[in-house]
Amino acid sequence: MRIINTIIETQQFLKSQSGAQIGFVPTMGALHAGHMELVKRAVRENDISVCSIFVNPTQFNNPEDLKKYPRTLEEDCKMLEEVGCDVVFAPSAEEMYPNLPKMKLDFGDLETKLEGEFRPGHFNGVGIVVSKLFHIVKPQRAYFGQKDLQQCAVVNRLVKDLSFDLKLIICDTVREESGLAMSSRNRRLSETGRSQAAFLYQSLKLGEKLFKEGLTALEVKEKISRAYADRSYFTPEYYEIIDFETLNNIDLYKKGNKTAIVLAVFLEEVRLIDNIVF
Ligand code: AMP
Repeated sequence: MRIINTIIETQQFLKSQSGAQIGFVPTMGALHAGHMELVKRAVRENDISVCSIFVNPTQFNNPEDLKKYPRTLEEDCKMLEEVGCDVVFAPSAEEMYPNLPKMKLDFGDLETKLEGEFRPGHFNGVGIVVSKLFHIVKPQRAYFGQKDLQQCAVVNRLVKDLSFDLKLIICDTVREESGLAMSSRNRRLSETGRSQAAFLYQSLKLGEKLFKEGLTALEVKEKISRAYADRSYFTPEYYEIIDFETLNNIDLYKKGNKTAIVLAVFLEEVRLIDNIVF
């Protein structure tokens, strides 16, 4: 496995592999079994697999969150080598941004709600870094996790609007046995926090059940909001029932429509997100 820190070397190496199909998994490191599912799939489905590890400063609206983001490059590389990853691209912030980009990407409706409402500028940062990475790696296939549902929608738009010649592959969320979605941020939770955080998935499943039973979105949200209020260690940000494609809110369950419930909460000052799709 090659570990490369510069853009030029990554480009030169990948260019030298003429005709090879490239599968790409962009990450911010602190890898866990969820990331590894994406990487394993990239290894299986392509001639060359590339994983980038870059904690992208421009997608953090909260400097404290950026500072506390776990960084475990050595461990990450070991895990990647074990599953047969070919190239790790791990640039520094200076390498990626000799000058901070001033351009602005506007994803309209897709970026103003949910994550966008609570993390202003986040999807602009995501859009720019993903575009840069796609230009550097030039993959045929790029793998993203459904765990970041809104990010998938934004990247899907980016690929269409800028005609990136690649296939986006969205992979299921990998969970702990408790139901907690795996996340690099889980490392910042105490043991108690980790077990409390299992409620996130329970609250999504409960919402799905109530919604399918015929409660309106508002009624579901009221019940869920009371359940969170009973657990005062949580500070909820949002819990919304939305259309999977448009991310617009839905009032009533309709069989056959792809629906998602998405949420974000703070627990022990760690911001956690999760969703389910049905
Ligand atoms: P991150 O390092 O958090 O930016 O994540 C890198 C990629 O891994 C993103 O496409 C995430 O959606 C995906 N990912 C993160 N956690 C999980 C998980 N638990 N299951 C599946 N994919 C995940």
